[in-house]
Amino acid sequence: MTQLPLRAQLASALGRSAATLSRMTGRGDGSVIGGRVGLMLEPDLLRQLARDRRLALISATNGKTTTTRLITSALLEMGQVATNAYGANMPAGHVSALSQHKDAPYGVLEVDEKYLPEVLDTTGAGVVCLMNLSRDQMDRAAEIWLLAQKWRRALSGKPTHVIANCDDPLVTWGASTAAKVTWVSGGQRWKEDSWCCPECGGPLDRKEERSSWGESERAMPTSHEAVATIDTARHWACRECTFHRPEPQWILDDDAVIDPRGRRWVLDIQLPGSANRSNAAMALAVAEAFGLPVERALPRLREVTSVAGRYTTVERDGRHARLLLAKNPAGWLEAFDVADPALPIILSVNAQGPDGRDTSWLWDVDYRILRGRPVFVTGERRLDLALRLDVADVPFALAETFAEALGAQPPGRVDVIANYTAFQQIRSEFGRAV
Ligand SMILES: [Zn+2]
Repeated sequence: MTQLPLRAQLASALGRSAATLSRMTGRGDGSVIGGRVGLMLEPDLLRQLARDRRLALISATNGKTTTTRLITSALLEMGQVATNAYGANMPAGHVSALSQHKDAPYGVLEVDEKYLPEVLDTTGAGVVCLMNLSRDQMDRAAEIWLLAQKWRRALSGKPTHVIANCDDPLVTWGASTAAKVTWVSGGQRWKEDSWCCPECGGPLDRKEERSSWGESERAMPTSHEAVATIDTARHWACRECTFHRPEPQWILDDDAVIDPRGRRWVLDIQLPGSANRSNAAMALAVAEAFGLPVERALPRLREVTSVAGRYTTVERDGRHARLLLAKNPAGWLEAFDVADPALPIILSVNAQGPDGRDTSWLWDVDYRILRGRPVFVTGERRLDLALRLDVADVPFALAETFAEALGAQPPGRVDVIANYTAFQQIRSEFGRAV
């Protein structure tokens, strides 16, 4: 790798010192402050740190931290990888990640959806992975349409290889100006933000999915004919213009991925739920874009057990609580998919800055799936959630604190779904994961 210019070396070193100082004084992992200091001293630092590396940028409303982790794990098979493992997904976090691994030939960066155009322009990343776009807290469909439009402009005319989920119409539209796209059929659980064609506003027609996202019985596909059946089952198309779902090269089929050569790979990953199988399918396609074949990437994906505390279990007095993070309506559906219907469930909702102060998004989620299991509601905005559950005819019990909710459980396992700050509070209070 070529040497960084002196000013960039200095900015990078001072940034790392600031990060270390911040960690030592207990102000978090320091990646944001370190990157800010570096960028203050050398505004061009991100571009310089990105030069001469092979980079992948990962963006989506949901699953970007996990997918970043999965891709990192895979690429470690080939060499050192710089990554923003703690979800600091804006330029300061990227500077910090790249500056901590100066000699890593590879970089896998989670990027906030809004920052993708800027970070792509600055870094000139060779690979971009786009998974899903849906309303996030108070954002509404019009805003995510604007985001997708910015992606289109950013990707247009660049040599970047895009790996995108063609089951999400808005992602498809956002990615389709790129010169080279590998389409992955990763499924789409949350459809409420994609009933309209992003190109013309006309209605989108869909075929009902039958495999991993539905409950219907089906035979295992063993041939190309069966692959084609899955493919048509997920088809969507605009009724009024020519915009339609492109043909995927990679297909997530229940617990397996079918690669571009028609080979079927059972994923067998440790992260739970269909959303994570979709993340894994995207990760395999990205790995292949880096020249890493499935047979080498997949065993690495299976090593990932938890991501930034998600899916870990905390224990107190014989109660083992598995923590699921859900930050927006689509995230809640994914968490419901992972939660064990046989277990009681604790829901914890806050409305602090990082959560979004407005809790009206709670009304977008269909909670009826929780009927029939013991439900406990806690968090600072538990009454907002309680009202929503009451309207949905889901019986529940209120608890002042998470500790009280946990104490009300019989010894054994319980699932917890919490939004961002509620999740962090539980992690810091209950500390060590078991
Ligand atoms: Zn249309």
